[in-house]
Amino acid sequence: VPSKDCPPDVEELGRSSWTLLHSIAATYPEKPTGDQQSNLKQFISLFGKLYPCWFCGEDFQSYVEKKEPQVMTQEAFGRWLCDAHNEVNIKLGKPTFDCNLWKQRWKDGWDDGRCD
Ligand code: FAD
Repeated sequence: VPSKDCPPDVEELGRSSWTLLHSIAATYPEKPTGDQQSNLKQFISLFGKLYPCWFCGEDFQSYVEKKEPQVMTQEAFGRWLCDAHNEVNIKLGKPTFDCNLWKQRWKDGWDDGRCD
């Protein structure tokens, strides 16, 4: 077993989780059905309840109550999630991310072609 195969700390868990969440936004349909919208809402709600860093999950649930998840379109959800991530960035004193760029970061790759 590689010596670095250790349980994740809050940071590693966070990075992996944001990757999953933004990737869900990147593959969410542009025109979701009612069922798909309902599934995503339930997922976000349960995600906050089950998130393995309890205080992180509680803050996330408060955010979801304050700012209702926007599940009408892919773009709306991608923006909502970017705003939610920025709220955590601010809490942790990290720089905020320009949400106009969420799709380049998580779906299409950067315009300069560095991900091609
Ligand atoms: P991360 O914040 O993990 O971001 C990963 C990558 O996403 C960045 O490198 C950047 O390319 C991109 N990115 C950054 N901001 C955005 C954005 N707004 N939109 C789109 N892409 C972006 N940690 C705590 O210590 N306390 C907490 O309360 C806490 N709450 C969390 C709640 C949730 C729901 C999640 C998923 C994580 C939480 N974390 C918390 C973890 C924290 O957000 C970071 O994941 C962790 O600190 C590692 O940060 P990082 O600098 O590697 O980048």
